[in-house]
Amino acid sequence: MTQTLFADHALLPTGWARDVLLQWNAAGQLSTVAPDSTAPAGTPRAAGPVLPGLPNLHSHAFQRAMGGLTEYRGAAQDSFWSWRELMYRFAGAITPKQLEAIATGLYVEMLEAGYTSVCEFHYVHHDLDGRPYADDRELSLCLLRAAQATGIGLTLLPVLYQTSGFGGTPPNDGQKRFIRRTDNMLALLQSLKPLCDAQGARLGLAPHSLRAVPPEALREAVAGLASLDATAPIHIHIAEQTGEVEACQRWSGQRPVQWLLNHLPVDARWCLVHATHMDADEYRRAAHSGAVAGLCPTTEANLGDGIFDMAQWRGAGGRWGVGSDSHATVNAAEELQLLEYSQRLATRQRNVLADDAQRHVATAMTLHAVAGGAQASGRAVAGLAVGQQADLVLLDASHPLLQGLPSPDAMLSAHVFASHRRSAIAEVWTGGQRRVLGGRHALGNRAWQGLVDARRSLAAPAH
Ligand code: ZN
Repeated sequence: MTQTLFADHALLPTGWARDVLLQWNAAGQLSTVAPDSTAPAGTPRAAGPVLPGLPNLHSHAFQRAMGGLTEYRGAAQDSFWSWRELMYRFAGAITPKQLEAIATGLYVEMLEAGYTSVCEFHYVHHDLDGRPYADDRELSLCLLRAAQATGIGLTLLPVLYQTSGFGGTPPNDGQKRFIRRTDNMLALLQSLKPLCDAQGARLGLAPHSLRAVPPEALREAVAGLASLDATAPIHIHIAEQTGEVEACQRWSGQRPVQWLLNHLPVDARWCLVHATHMDADEYRRAAHSGAVAGLCPTTEANLGDGIFDMAQWRGAGGRWGVGSDSHATVNAAEELQLLEYSQRLATRQRNVLADDAQRHVATAMTLHAVAGGAQASGRAVAGLAVGQQADLVLLDASHPLLQGLPSPDAMLSAHVFASHRRSAIAEVWTGGQRRVLGGRHALGNRAWQGLVDARRSLAAPAH
């Protein structure tokens, strides 16, 4: 059965269009995207501008339960590494039931906040004692169920993690739930593939970082994935912290991105997450490889990582998307806002991420983040075009923040720069089905309560 929606304004890959007739088939795939149309009688009309849904290209679901627990000073010079202590405590204690509850609550939040799909960088695999579960897929299944229950699109990226530092340093006790041999990871991927296919999820691989995966294992895992699925996405944390860059140089004489480009077949399948610290040559080479830069502005700000240089990246034609990573913030518009603001602060200019094709910065950023996010997801979620999924975000033109604005560009600008939280979102659709109405997901408070209960147990002081 074909479904239809008429939009006075819709943001297509080429820019804003008027009077757009959108139709999609029973599989949720757009079959008509026709600007300058007339609405057939009885066609539902969107309450405001229609945006393409934004893929969230980097998520560690369980970390949502840590929000609010790390914002105080411990050691005099607090840093990423002290934050990681609490993260390891949560990772060491979480049960399958808790993971599923947290992921379900989180995915509801994501949908309400304008994300229509998520790449889950999933590294807690084993039971509390570090031994595999009877079903080795146990915790992956929790994430698949959470995605199915909420309707968010999923790219599942099981994480390969083997060492605690460059040069093969053995893993420590806090990492025992993450550790897998390479053949064991490839067996997991093999057994997850049919389940992902059946659910419309994409399966990829996430070698955690160059710290956590030795060269030989990295090469074997990437080759093994390619024989399972030649175009499957590959995500890696690459140069988040300056300490990590220095350690990589001590180990190999090369910087992390430089090392990766010199030793692996980096191409459009790859997403370089937190490629924050690159030199000019790395910016140029990484951009030319076709890989997507996975930017997580609110998490990178929260952790004090540093600022990615968008001018160099865009100058080299680099592709990019955004992720909410640790979920300090879960809001697509806020990620875009902070990304632009960090560039303004660094360059003392305005509208840095606008371009000649799209002079309104929120419009330009939305289009780039959807295209890059779709590439990193490996799913057909590249915006409002025939053959892509009907993943739609409908703004509410009657919302006080948008009323009286003269154009959809201005409304989207208000949503990103003048709005607050998820205020201006009326509806969210994924795969042609409405998941959010009146700003709320059908699971709403129930899903949040599940997350709260899980957090209460995890956040209780350790005895
Ligand atoms: Zn991450």
